[in-house]
Amino acid sequence: MVGGQADVKLVSNAMANATRRKVMAMLVESNRTKAEVGKAIGQSMLDYHLQMLQQAGLIDIKDDALDLTEFGKNFMEAKSEKPVETKKDLSGTPLVQVTEVRQLLPCIADASKFRIIARLQPQLSGSLKLLEPLFPRARYSEKIGALIIQRGSILITLYSTGNVTMTMIKNEDEAKEVLNGLKKTINEAITSGVTPVPREKIKVDHSEIYKYLPKTDCKICGEQSCYAFAIRLVAGETALDKCTPLLEPRFATSLETLRALREYL
Ligand code: SF4
Repeated sequence: MVGGQADVKLVSNAMANATRRKVMAMLVESNRTKAEVGKAIGQSMLDYHLQMLQQAGLIDIKDDALDLTEFGKNFMEAKSEKPVETKKDLSGTPLVQVTEVRQLLPCIADASKFRIIARLQPQLSGSLKLLEPLFPRARYSEKIGALIIQRGSILITLYSTGNVTMTMIKNEDEAKEVLNGLKKTINEAITSGVTPVPREKIKVDHSEIYKYLPKTDCKICGEQSCYAFAIRLVAGETALDKCTPLLEPRFATSLETLRALREYL
């Protein structure tokens, strides 16, 4: 396995910012130097923006040279594609194989855990959304064209292009086990032609949200404490982006997880 980066949700965080999207658009056109990018977007927080893109596995930074990673290229290609139309059933969907585990790097929040990027082929395209009921904790996101699956503390994001990103993986063996489990579940559904009704749908409560908040009780969000914020978030009375400390790089994985958990509220 080669060193590299992460997910979805890290990717989603990275691409949520207009300046970073501009950097990505520049790199789609051609490789750039840091100075060129700085000239186009300004020096303010340049290093921070580049770091966010790098941590998401979208770009490589070598000395002053900036380039898209393979994953970054695939991601930008997928973004420019027209949204795939969801199929009515799984008929004609080919069985998938794990063809690649491309990257493995320490998670930012927990250096004992890893992020990985892998590939399931052939692409699931319009069948992907149909797979949502297979997993008790899964949500299909139309916005990013991906199925986000939570398995314990592991977050798996499966894109219609076949890219898979996972966070909080203990080691390579666990990465393979998770990927093979994913493949098995999907292929069983394809073989039977039926997407089973999930055994249970777990509801996320405020205590689970609280686990991933910074727990500083800084009140920036307008609430008296992180715990109060968690309660109000679950009640739909506030928004996750009100907690701006979560944008700090050290909370990147927590933010990733919270964004996924939000899908279950
Ligand atoms: S802004 Fe975030 S860290 Fe600060 S109190 Fe609110 S939830 Fe907690």
